[in-house]
Formats: sequence, structure tokens, C-alpha cells
Amino acid sequence: MLRPPAEPYRYHMLINGQWVEAASGQRYRRESPAHGVAVGDYPLADAVDTDAAVAAARRAFDEGPWAARRAFDEGPWPHMQGAERARILYRVAEAIRAAKDDLAYIEVLESGKPISQARDEMESAAGLWEYAASLTRHIYGETYNTLGSDMLGLILREPVGVVGMITPWNFPLLIISQKLPFALATGCTAVVKPSELTPGTTLRLGKFVQEAGLPDGVVNIVNGYGVPVGVRIGEHPDVNMISFTGSTAVGKQVIEASKGNLKRVALELGGKNPHIVFADADIEAALDAVVFGVYFNSGECCNSGSRLLVQRSIADTFVNAVVERARSVPVGDPLDEKTKVGAIVNAAQLNKIMSYIDAGQREGARLALGGKQIPSEHGSFVEPTVFAGVTPAMTIAREEIFGPVLSVVPFDTAEEAIAIANSTMYGLSAGLWTRSVDTAFQVSRGIRAGTIWINTFMDGYPELSFGGYNQSGLGRELGRVAIEEFTELKTIQVHLGKRTNWWHRPGHLDALT
Ligand code: NAD
Repeated sequence: MLRPPAEPYRYHMLINGQWVEAASGQRYRRESPAHGVAVGDYPLADAVDTDAAVAAARRAFDEGPWAARRAFDEGPWPHMQGAERARILYRVAEAIRAAKDDLAYIEVLESGKPISQARDEMESAAGLWEYAASLTRHIYGETYNTLGSDMLGLILREPVGVVGMITPWNFPLLIISQKLPFALATGCTAVVKPSELTPGTTLRLGKFVQEAGLPDGVVNIVNGYGVPVGVRIGEHPDVNMISFTGSTAVGKQVIEASKGNLKRVALELGGKNPHIVFADADIEAALDAVVFGVYFNSGECCNSGSRLLVQRSIADTFVNAVVERARSVPVGDPLDEKTKVGAIVNAAQLNKIMSYIDAGQREGARLALGGKQIPSEHGSFVEPTVFAGVTPAMTIAREEIFGPVLSVVPFDTAEEAIAIANSTMYGLSAGLWTRSVDTAFQVSRGIRAGTIWINTFMDGYPELSFGGYNQSGLGRELGRVAIEEFTELKTIQVHLGKRTNWWHRPGHLDALT
């Protein structure tokens, strides 16, 4: 079995093509949440480093190292041919795939997620870079040839500019890969701030984009805390857009910070996703999906199916079966190939989960399984937990716990299921299990969420857009629509032939025309 490294990995930050220390010279370390040893040693950036990174991204967008050597029509990164940008993005995808095992190992050490799952995530990340590469040659606007014989209208799609990208700790490489290659495909430049808890693979990605031939300054990676680095990116006047993934509370702060120059803001936020099981479902398949849906990544997942809505006629039997299956889920060392539920990311998150488990008990839900921290010499582990008899008004039915805790709410009719599903402030995703086509589509239409899974759960494809309704977010990632998120529209109107529709034409100018 793999073991943690003897020494922590030592990293630098990427600013303007250089691997640098923080200007302050400060560094910090991260301990593995499962093993209690230092696994990463990183520069600790502040506003000074952030400003340097934004300046580099701005220059690479406006002038670019290419401008000095190339003709105007080839220009800096935003003007590079789509085909050439595609080649670079494909090379990054290959580099991720080739380093899959190392990247997965780093993510396990920093996040506590299971190694087999981490490897799959690296594969998915490579797929995102490939898909984005394929889009670089399909970025186009519109033309209007219907405005009269003397007028042509064009709508160009142009990159939005410098994009600040702020990411969370739960899927570090996957989430930056939902943003960065799509922004690069359009010609944007970027300042990336990974979570301070899990920056390792994003910093490695910096090497890959360099080696793939990305011009200096197009991607900059600053490593540090939300305050001051994330805040500075959010308020910086030279940043045109923020693409943020994280909690709803911080998402709102990003909107506040971005007001100064009216940045475009895209937010991928939290969820309290209903997983709905009707009595006519394929029960065996639903059971597996419910257990996977809530315990995957220790429940530290925006798409976690953390609310089980189950039809009352099967509720008792189904919940008993969930409890039995959850009891046997392998929890433990995330470097063990057999582990399905690893460590909780840090003490703060552990405390938050335990306080929600207390709230569930205090408010009268029945603890059907788990509810305790698992004793461990070094790591933070929580038992897979099930609360039955939950009502929609209870805290554990409304708030995002971000841990391995399932809240079971029974319902009678499809209408009631829709009403309960829609009764939180979120609207990220939902799953539903039924053999009735009518029920499947009527409930899908009724639920206000960005993604609905029918007879499956938590699949994802680069082709399919992803994002939230309500307080789960603003905008969409992935799919062709991602190109729209990272582009501006420019309207060009061209008059053709001799002008005849004069506004004011004194006779004495006749001689000149
Ligand atoms: P978080 O909001 O605490 O932090 C996210 C990022 O924002 C981190 O890089 C952090 O350093 C930075 N940050 C913190 N304060 C900031 C500030 N004031 N200004 C700017 N940046 C700041 O979230 P987290 O704990 O890292 O991640 C968990 C949350 O992310 C959950 O709510 C989860 O649902 C959400 N999430 C959503 C999606 C999605 O696609 N919708 C995906 C993964 C995670």
C-alpha cells in the first residue's frame, strides 16, 4: 500500500512564467488529514503577489509576449489561431493523463479522498481539457445578411479578458479543469487561486501548461488564503471576470468585492440535493445510488444527495436497507485501494459535521446509523450516518452539512416530493428513481435545480452544462455554453457601397464626393 511521503512536497507559485516565492518570503505547510504528517510546503501569497499575477495576466491579454515577435494579425494569446490553442490544450490533457497516479496521490494526501476515486477524477480532468480543446475551433458569432442591400451586421465573440478563478478543496484539479481550459479556449488569460488546503495539483498543472507551450503570463497561480488573496482578485480593477466555486456565503462576498468595476461573476455554490425514490423504482439500483450519492467523497461534495426523499409506502423497508448497506461501506486510510470513504478535510469541517449531527438529535430526528467520530491516531473520520424521521423544517434537512450524513424525509405524492425538493435555498441538482416516464419528467420539470438525474446519480460529461438555480450559483460551466460564459459580444455594422441616406448634406461638399 502507498504511504505518505517522508518529506513534504515543496512548491512555488507561477507568476508571469516564473516559479517564485511569495514577495513576503512566507511559507506554510499542510498536514494530511488522514495521516497527520506534513505533505505540502507552499509559498503564502498576499495582495502584493496577487497584484503581480494580475499584472502579468493583463499584459498577456493586452500585449502578450507574442506581440513582440509576431505580426499584428497573429497577435497575443487572444488572437492566436484556435487550432494552435487547441494543440496546447490537448498537450495539457496528455500531461494530466500521464501523471495521473502522481496527481491522485497528491490529492489524497491533501484532501483525504480515496485513491481509487482520485485516479478517476484525474482521468475526468484530462477529458475536460480535451473537450475544451475541441471547442477552440468552434467559437463563432453571428452574421446578419438581412439588413438591406447596403448593410451587413456581424456579431463577434471575443474573450472576456483576465479571469480570476477561485476554487475549493473538495475536487481541486477537477474543478479548475471545469474553468481554466474553457477560458483559455476563448483566449482569456487567468489568475488562479486554489484552496489553501489543497493547492498541490493546481500548482503541478502550472508546469503542464508551461510545458505545453502556453505563453508566459497567460496562466498565473497564486497560493494563499481567501483573505487576502481571494478578496484581492475579487476587487481588482484589472480583472474582468471572476469564476468562483465554493460556499454560498463566500460567493456572496465575491459579488460584493466585484462591484467596483462591475466584473462578470460566475458562481458554482453549495447544494442540499434531494435524491427521490418512488415506490415503483428499481429498488436495488436506487439503493446503491443513494449510498454512493451521500457517502462519495465523505459527503464533501456539492452534488451530495444528502436528502433522501422516499415514498412512504416503501420508506421503512428502504431506509433499513440503506442502513444495512451504509454499515458495510469501507471507511479508512484513503491510500488503501479498498477505501470508499476517506478522511474529513480538516478539524473545522469535522466540527461543523459533528455540530449538525447534534442539531439533528436535538431537533428530534432519529439517528438510525452512525453519528460518531471514528477513533484514529492521526486522522479525522466520521461514521456513515443516517437520520430517519426528518421533517423539511429541520436544520439537517435545509443546510449543507458537507459530511457523510443522510437525512431521510418521507413523502406521499409526486407533488409533495416536488414541494419538499424545492424547500431549501439551494437548487444545484436532484436525482429521482421511478419506472414511470410521466413521473420522471413531471417531477424533473417541477424541481428547480440545474441538473436532474433520472435512474442514475452524479454522472457528469464535459458536453453537458452544469450549474445551480437559486443560491446554488450564477451561470453555467461545461458544454458549449461555457464558451458563452467566457466571451463578450461585439456588434459590428458595415455599410456597403455608396451612402445615400444623408443626415445633413450641405450642397458645397458635392465636389468632394
Ligand atoms: P469556501 O467558500 O470556504 O472557499 C472556496 C474558495 O474561496 C477557497 O479557495 C477560499 O480560499 C476562497 N475564499 C475564502 N474566502 C474568500 C473571500 N472572502 N473572497 C474570495 N475568496 C475567498 O468553500 P470550500 O470550503 O473550499 O468548499 C466547499 C464549498 O464549495 C461547499 O459549499 C460546496 O458545495 C461548494 N462547491 C460547489 C461546487 C459546485 O460546482 N457548485 C463544487 C465544489 C464545491
